Amino acid sequence: MPKRVLDFRSDTVTRPTPGMRKAMAEAAVGDDVFDEDPSVHALQERVADLLGKEAAVFVPSGSMSNQIGVRVHCDPGDEFICESGCHIYNYEQGAYAQLSGLATRTVDGVCGVLQLEQLTGLIRADNEHLCRTRLVCLENTHNRGAGKIQPYDVVESICDWAHANGLRTHLDGARLFNAVVASGISARDWAQHFDTVSVCFSKGLGAPVGSALAGSKEHIKKARRVRKLFGGGMRQAGIIAAGALYALDHHIERLAEDHANAQKLGDAVGSIPGLKLIGEAVDTNLVIFHVEPKLGTAAEFCEKLKAAGLLMLAIGAQQVRAVTHLDVDEADTARACEILGEVAAAAPGVKVTAGADVHY
Ligand SMILES: *Cc1c(COP(=O)(O)O)cnc(C)c1O
Repeated sequence: MPKRVLDFRSDTVTRPTPGMRKAMAEAAVGDDVFDEDPSVHALQERVADLLGKEAAVFVPSGSMSNQIGVRVHCDPGDEFICESGCHIYNYEQGAYAQLSGLATRTVDGVCGVLQLEQLTGLIRADNEHLCRTRLVCLENTHNRGAGKIQPYDVVESICDWAHANGLRTHLDGARLFNAVVASGISARDWAQHFDTVSVCFSKGLGAPVGSALAGSKEHIKKARRVRKLFGGGMRQAGIIAAGALYALDHHIERLAEDHANAQKLGDAVGSIPGLKLIGEAVDTNLVIFHVEPKLGTAAEFCEKLKAAGLLMLAIGAQQVRAVTHLDVDEADTARACEILGEVAAAAPGVKVTAGADVHY
C-alpha cells in the first residue's frame, strides 16, 4: 500500500466523514432559490441562533459571504477600513472593487490585530472630493496572522467606536469557532459587536462546501438579493447544508484537538535549528514559520517535506504554513514533527525553481 501523505496545507482538505456523508445523503431538500429547502432553513436558523442574530443566509463560499457582507453595508464609491493582511483585501481578487465599486483603506496590524488608536483619525470628512467611510472589517481568527485570536476588549473597543461614529462592522469569521473553542468566549459574545458575521463550514469544521452570513432580518434580506446577483443562488442546497449542520453538531468542540496538535507542531518548530515560529504563540490551528535561507527557500523546503510524505504550504519566499484539522490526528502530527526535524537536519539538496504557492 502506498504510504499515506500527511496533508497539513490547509483545514480545507478534509473529506466528509461517514456520518456526515450519511446525513447529506438523507437530507430533506427543496428549491432554495424559492426559499423552500428545509435543510437550508434548519442550517440558517441554527447559525442565526448560534451567533445571536435575527437571520442568516447560506452561501457557497467564505469569499462570497464576505463580499455580500461588504456590499450589504456599502454603495459604490464607499470605503471600508480593514487590516492589511486580511483575506478580504488579499485573497478575494479585490472583488469589493470588481463587483461592488468599493474602495478600501488598509491599516497594518500586528499578526492581524489592529488597535483603536490606529483607526480614530481615518473617517473621512463629509466632502464631495472624498470617498465615504462606511464600514470596518475584522478577521477572527486571523489567517495571515497565524491563527491569532483577536483580543476581545480590542474588538469591543473598535466596534463600539465604529458604531458611535456611524460606521457598520463586518466580521470575517471563517475560523470564528476556532476562536470560540480556544478562548472560551461564545460565538454570540464575539458576534454581538458586528452587524454582519461570516462563518465557514468548509474550514476547520470539516464540511465539504459552504459558509453563512448572519445579521439583522433587513441585512439578510438584502444579502439574499446580492447572493443571487453574485450567482450564489443554489437549488437543492440542502444536500450540502446537511453537511454543514452535521459539522456544527459534531465538529466544534473537537477543534480543541486541532489546537493541541498545532501547539505540538509549534513546539517542534521552536526546537528545530533553522526554523522560527512567526507570532508569539500558536493560538489555534495555524502555524506559520520562517525557514532560514540555509535550508533553501520555503518552496524548496516544502518540496523536500513532500518527498518525505508531508505537505505544507509555502506562503512567502521564506514562510511556510501548516494547518491542523479533522483529517490529521496526534500520531500524524508526531510524525510531521519528526519529518520537519529530519528534513531541516539534512544538508540542502533538492533544487526546485517553482515559486511560492498561492495560499487560500
Ligand atoms: C478561507 C477563508 C475565506 C474564504 O473562504 P472560501 O470559502 O475559500 O472562499 C475567508 N476568510 C478567511 C479568513 C479564510 O481563511
